[in-house]
Amino acid sequence: MFTYDSYHMPLTLRDALEAVAKLPSGGRVIAGGTDIVPWAREGRAGDVHFPVLVDVSRVDEFQGYDLQGGRVRLNANVVYQDFLDDAVLRANLPCMPHCAIWFADDQIRQQATLAGNLVNASPAADGTPPMLTLNAEVELVRLDSGEIARRTVPLTDFVLGPGKTVLAEDELISAVICDALPGYGGSFQKVGQRRSLVISRVCAAALVKTSADGRVFEDVRLALGGVGPVPARLTDIEDMLRGQPVSAGLIAEASVKPAERVASRSRVEYRRHVVQGFVQAAIEDALAAAGAPRPGQKDREKAHA
Ligand SMILES: Cc1cc2nc3c(=O)[nH]c(=O)nc-3n(C[C@H](O)[C@H](O)[C@H](O)COP(=O)(O)OP(=O)(O)OC[C@H]3O[C@@H](n4cnc5c(N)ncnc54)[C@H](O)[C@@H]3O)c2cc1C
Repeated sequence: MFTYDSYHMPLTLRDALEAVAKLPSGGRVIAGGTDIVPWAREGRAGDVHFPVLVDVSRVDEFQGYDLQGGRVRLNANVVYQDFLDDAVLRANLPCMPHCAIWFADDQIRQQATLAGNLVNASPAADGTPPMLTLNAEVELVRLDSGEIARRTVPLTDFVLGPGKTVLAEDELISAVICDALPGYGGSFQKVGQRRSLVISRVCAAALVKTSADGRVFEDVRLALGGVGPVPARLTDIEDMLRGQPVSAGLIAEASVKPAERVASRSRVEYRRHVVQGFVQAAIEDALAAAGAPRPGQKDREKAHA
């Protein structure tokens, strides 16, 4: 059961920061509530009582997004459904619609914020791998002697470990800022127990840009979640593919290496097995989304000439 003494719903950033600065011990910030509310139930945290809740879902500055100078500023209350519904976000963040379609169900996607997902810092949070491929930074805000102070932290430094981030008690996430990559093909792979109502055991995100004829990898970005304490970019695999001709053999070779990274304590062999298949599928799906011919097609065409 989930109870509280008082519930604040600030409308401005300043009011939100003032409320957060005054949070008593045990007080909490809430956005969509899709992590916090189910956590307060039998078998997880059990009965949970908050002296104060600060609901940031109506904060004006946290709504919407901006596209500027090759970067997208996703304000804190952008929810997963936005990555499916908004044509500009779909075009500029090509892996996010694939991530969102696998994220929970319709109801949860309307509530679940990207910011809340990153703060949750689950090793398999779905939003972290695609945001790593997009070189995301997290903008944090707090009151400093009455003034609004901002700092920006790369996502790679924001998540410290399972459930741990660099977010200070008096800070809020105001935005997640990432690359805009129109023209890239994106993909997201995920395995869990059930399709919609589960957090991934392992997930992979890929972004691929090819030459105009689709035969050469101009850029490749890959990240994995669920294989260690924090999701990680696969820069060594990216380097192996970037600038190379697209071929089924190269993709298969590149997909073997990430399985070696599996450091999770549970179900290691299972995770290694799925990681290899995932990375391969992530690259192939991203290539297809970029409009490139299927790897191996050229060889088949030659054989039939
Ligand atoms: C049925 C179900 C299915 C789910 N499926 C998935 C899934 O497929 N993949 C997945 O990754 N997750 C899944 N989740 C988990 C959850 O939906 C996500 O982690 C979600 O993105 C959390 O966002 P929220 O806005 O609901 O966070 P909340 O629950 O409101 O908050 C989560 C944490 O973030 C903090 N927080 C929120 N906003 C801010 C802010 N602006 N500044 C500072 N701190 C903030 C809160 O204090 C809290 O600690 C699922 C949950 C449910 C209930």
